[in-house]
Amino acid sequence: MIYDTIIIGGGPAGLASALYLLRDGRKVLIIEKETVGGTASSTPLIENYPGFKAISGSDLTSAMFDQVDELGVDFEIEEVTDIKVDGDIKEVITEDNTYKAKTIIIASGSSYRTLNLPHEKELIGHGIHFCVACDGPFYKDKDVAIVGGGNSACINAYSMSNIAKHVTILQNLDHLTCEQDLANKLEKCNNVDIIYNSGIKEYLYEDDTLTGVKLEADGKMQTLKLDGLFLNIGLIPQNGFVNGKLDVDQRGYLVSEDGTTKVPGIFVAGDSRTKKYAQITIAVADGTIAALDAINYLNK
Ligand SMILES: Cc1cc2nc3c(=O)[nH]c(=O)nc-3n(C[C@H](O)[C@H](O)[C@H](O)COP(=O)(O)OP(=O)(O)OC[C@H]3O[C@@H](n4cnc5c(N)ncnc54)[C@H](O)[C@@H]3O)c2cc1C
Repeated sequence: MIYDTIIIGGGPAGLASALYLLRDGRKVLIIEKETVGGTASSTPLIENYPGFKAISGSDLTSAMFDQVDELGVDFEIEEVTDIKVDGDIKEVITEDNTYKAKTIIIASGSSYRTLNLPHEKELIGHGIHFCVACDGPFYKDKDVAIVGGGNSACINAYSMSNIAKHVTILQNLDHLTCEQDLANKLEKCNNVDIIYNSGIKEYLYEDDTLTGVKLEADGKMQTLKLDGLFLNIGLIPQNGFVNGKLDVDQRGYLVSEDGTTKVPGIFVAGDSRTKKYAQITIAVADGTIAALDAINYLNK
């Protein structure tokens, strides 16, 4: 069987791509290594997806999946380990199978870097977060901390200073690494403190919700009571299977401003490509663009 399109990744970008291709009458396979819905499916509450005042990530992405399932998408739970992109028929390789298609859409996303401390997984969405634009408003007039000292962490800390009662930046170095302008702005915020040379050693929690952290700063242990904690220590793009066949930037993102790549017939959508913001709306838009480009390519 030769598919019109194989989509790698079943998150919002991949599901949006599938919708457009299936409605155009194309034969489509999604290969997903974990669960339908991608990273968005793990968030308990989404309040910034148009059309829904509030919806859980799993409800939103299940609805996206049901829509493409009804249209007849093929779906495999397998991890893609390699792709072959030469020639008109491309190959997508997993541990057990090789699938063939005329086009490939890479929508494999990225994962947030975490601290890998005990109980972290269970506390994500219950006090531990990554995205201030998504979850910051839940902490109006509360005490929060941001882990990190780069541009993302500092932009998030600055945004949170307008929402939260108090913001603590926990930075593992003796200085911030964000742009100086931003550091200057943060210094002027009355409700922002920075603890340098610090590292979280333990999460404190009650009833499965974060209540604070134990941290070491300048060699001394201290406890910080918190309502919320945002981890902003980077993202890890999940593009290993590309194995040098497409261009990636120094952080490992697939280089593409418009969803096309240097290989005709291979497209990229969502958080796995170079971009400024990672949001579900943007992933869905990317998926749409990649699908329309794939349809144009198939029509040639
Ligand atoms: C906790 C949390 C809360 C968030 N809250 C919000 C929010 O409220 N609002 C918002 O707009 N955004 C939110 N985001 C960001 C949003 O989830 C992402 O921007 C969005 O999911 C990106 O969609 P995507 O399809 O590009 O990638 P993903 O959702 O990451 O999907 C990629 C999929 O590809 C799969 N995959 C990766 N590698 C392979 C492989 N080798 N083989 C097969 N499959 C593979 C992954 O398992 C994953 O399912 C949140 C993110 C997190 C982590």
